[in-house]
Amino acid sequence: MSDDIRRQYGLRPIINVSGTMTSLGASIVVPEAVEAVRAVLPQFVEIGELQKHASRTIARLTGGEAGFVTASCAAAITLAVAATMTGDDRYAIERLPDTSRLPRDEVAIQSGHLVGYGAPVDQGIRLSGAKVVPVGQATSAESWQLAGAITERTAAAVYVVSHHVVQYGQMPLAEFVEVAHAKGVPVIVDAASEYDLRGFLAQGADLALYSSHKFLGGPTGGIVAGRKDLVRAAYFQNGGIGRGMKVGKEGIVGTIAALEAWEKRDHAGIRARETAALRLWRDTLGPFAGVDAHIDPDPTKNPLDRLKVHVEPHEARTTAWDLADNLAKGERPVIVRDHEVEHGYFYLDPCNVHPGEAEIVAARLTEELEAARRSNTTAATDLLDRRRRKAANNWPD
Ligand SMILES: *Cc1c(COP(=O)(O)O)cnc(C)c1O
Repeated sequence: MSDDIRRQYGLRPIINVSGTMTSLGASIVVPEAVEAVRAVLPQFVEIGELQKHASRTIARLTGGEAGFVTASCAAAITLAVAATMTGDDRYAIERLPDTSRLPRDEVAIQSGHLVGYGAPVDQGIRLSGAKVVPVGQATSAESWQLAGAITERTAAAVYVVSHHVVQYGQMPLAEFVEVAHAKGVPVIVDAASEYDLRGFLAQGADLALYSSHKFLGGPTGGIVAGRKDLVRAAYFQNGGIGRGMKVGKEGIVGTIAALEAWEKRDHAGIRARETAALRLWRDTLGPFAGVDAHIDPDPTKNPLDRLKVHVEPHEARTTAWDLADNLAKGERPVIVRDHEVEHGYFYLDPCNVHPGEAEIVAARLTEELEAARRSNTTAATDLLDRRRRKAANNWPD
């Protein structure tokens, strides 16, 4: 792999063991999608026809009736909600986000699903003009609370599948769908980061939304799949609020190619390679006092494991966050998954490493932990200072 393009822009050659992060460039785009994007960029295409092709591919892979590609899963949330309010009424579509003349503009969502993925889920809903109606409390939502929250003004119910959401006390999708459907309300599932392309529609969701650039390894894009009338109504939003969420021909073609590659991907081979990386890192960390590493399954049951690395500061002479910060420095910066680091652990995610990088990660772990072991004092940055430092953002300076 060449780092040339990064050097050209003065960017550091980071190694991503954090996962699929927008802020790090999402995922490794699969060669089939790279080639399709390259091939389409100089050509003119009839976008409506290309999106019909995307619809057939999305239908085949998801089991939905139809689908289309948009700019991102965040865009898909907004367009899907808009579809449930306007249907295919072009005039209503042009008036959004003004919903004052629409019969339905409320969206029910469990409080524990009102999370952020870099932007707030609720804002993705509100952008359409819809009003968010939270259901239950952060750590508990019951079917009677959803039933009670639904009124004749409810346009849709949104369900988020993600490691970001509260992982207990929430309604399972099947129960959520049952309650919403009993009241005639369609269910939209945000499954941006999920491997399961069929399961949410199979459980009765009316629309399922995915990111092209996460596990699928496509270019930046979003996928809307499901009921044909709602897919059409969401697609028509491109003549309204969807314009600012426009996907180009390269995003559509790249998403189709990534979906086709997904069908043929050697999933078992990739899993074996990821497991080998996890074992290498675990064995590398084994000899270090105060460091405890074990393989941890994905919280939303994607077929994917991560290495959970606990750091006990007195024995390891560093903290989980100082180790994470030091790994992120130097000639080969390694970016770990540190969103729970205040608990004294981080994760190493093997999904986005190129051949040869797992070994570099192991060498960097050894280097930083040996340096900590040699020092006479325990490196322990104040967590509050670290939070303040991370929150400070003077971009573009
Ligand atoms: C990443 C993510 C999104 C946003 O997806 P984009 O395609 O990057 O806009 C939405 N919801 C969840 C749960 C996510 O993880």
